[in-house]
Amino acid sequence: RELPADPDMENVRRQVLGACYSFVNPTQVRAPYLIAYSPEMATDIGLSADDCEDEWFTQVFAGNEQLAGMQPHAQCYGGHQFGNWAGQLGDGRAINLGEVPDQHGILQTLQLKGAGETPYSRSADGLAVLRSSVREFLCSEAMFHLGIPTTRALSLIGTGEQVMRDMFYDGRPKSEPGAVVCRVAPSFLRIGSYEIFSARQDVENLKKLVDFTICHHFPHLGEPNHETYLRWFREVCERSAKLVVDWMRVGFVHGVLNTDNTSILGLTIDYGPYGWIDDYDPDWTPNTTDADLKRYRFGHQAQIMQWNLLQLGNALYPLINESEPLRQILNDFVDDYTQKWQQMRADKLGLKQYHEASDKALNQRLQHILLLTETDMTLFYRQLAELPCESDTITDAELLSIIEVAWYAPKSVSQNDKTEIVAWLRQYQLRVREEGTSDAERKKAMNLINPKYVLRNYLAQQAIERAEKGDFSEIKTLLNVLRHPYDEQPAYQEYANKRPEWARHKPGCSMLSCSS
Ligand code: AMP
Ligand code: MG
Ligand code: MG
Repeated sequence: RELPADPDMENVRRQVLGACYSFVNPTQVRAPYLIAYSPEMATDIGLSADDCEDEWFTQVFAGNEQLAGMQPHAQCYGGHQFGNWAGQLGDGRAINLGEVPDQHGILQTLQLKGAGETPYSRSADGLAVLRSSVREFLCSEAMFHLGIPTTRALSLIGTGEQVMRDMFYDGRPKSEPGAVVCRVAPSFLRIGSYEIFSARQDVENLKKLVDFTICHHFPHLGEPNHETYLRWFREVCERSAKLVVDWMRVGFVHGVLNTDNTSILGLTIDYGPYGWIDDYDPDWTPNTTDADLKRYRFGHQAQIMQWNLLQLGNALYPLINESEPLRQILNDFVDDYTQKWQQMRADKLGLKQYHEASDKALNQRLQHILLLTETDMTLFYRQLAELPCESDTITDAELLSIIEVAWYAPKSVSQNDKTEIVAWLRQYQLRVREEGTSDAERKKAMNLINPKYVLRNYLAQQAIERAEKGDFSEIKTLLNVLRHPYDEQPAYQEYANKRPEWARHKPGCSMLSCSS
């Protein structure tokens, strides 16, 4: 049989052996309609607002039509899910249309998510529902504007068809509106893309894919050979360390960091049951499927990333044939991550340099005071930037009044806890004074890395509920606000507030299932 197969005649669910992808055409949808598009992403690939609002755009990015040169295909990958090898997984509902150069000359792959079944769809339908598509669309662009590596989203298009999903809200199957997101990235290759070949002992194709990856996405590393493979593995580890540090900086929890959801380029990929930290809690996970083990909880993401990279190391072993250099690189991940994480923590506090001697204790005590009372992580750092440190005449009450804005229940904070918090704030002031940074200078620096606006879960949920009623205005408003996450936007102050009490336990506003 010729691989990777005929797109129409051979779009049957099967184990696809000896191929990195299968040609497959998107499924036609009845009545596609444009919900939103990202103007920045469109501009980047040479599309104007008029293009995006034209009917052809909706038809193409719903999967109904193809432009000249497009050759749709679904990629083959496997992965470890929740720590277990799960075999062939993808792409069960993502279809690459083709590549297009962006304004920097970098080739970007256009990929439809939710465009129908592929040979990899297993027992699922290949479709995506509106709510998860809204979440993917908004969060991809929010992440980009935060300056964090991510796959992008060009468009969000409703299909005009209903999709059946189970166990949302009341445990009964329910039909929901379908949607397709066009994702954009230089590559959607994941750790699982390499694992699948290794698991099948298909070293020939493993080598082909690794060589392709290096030549196309890491050309600065040179011609593929034994040494280059190791340098490549190191770079993947370094990019992944940086990515997790970025997530920790802004309070993002991926929620399902399986190896098939771990980009080989160090991008945030696969926005499923992700969440943003409201009240600071390293043990929080947004994923209801993970509520017991909490494998993918906020504070555990670096360990999980290292575990995923270990799986990549295992997958590459047949090309390297010695374990020691791979082990060394994985060990270095810890030092690299720790060093980047410490500097990030110093940056969040407006400190120029991380000093082990003083700042380790400062950070440990900070962790402690953030947990004394429910403290909104995002607001806390923005308020801390307002804290006067130059003069020492400020009273305890004044210090607390600045910080208590970030507390969820200010009235319930005990006097003892307040005393501890003030003590930390005083210690912080002294540390800042040591560096001699002016209040204005420190505030400016802190507000460049501590966002004011993030896609809080309840904000996304509000946009979804309105979208399900046919009103897409909140999606557009959020997209707009999240374009400038570090800026003061007085007209949109409400989007920077703490999560309201009604949203605390509401499904979708706090935790989510994997159903999408
Ligand atoms: P996830 O755990 O959501 O990252 O998905 C793992 C794999 O399951 C991916 O290959 C997805 O494409 C696939 N998948 C998820 N939902 C569906 C669906 N509705 N139809 C087909 N495949 C799906
Ligand atoms: Mg996935
Ligand atoms: Mg909590």
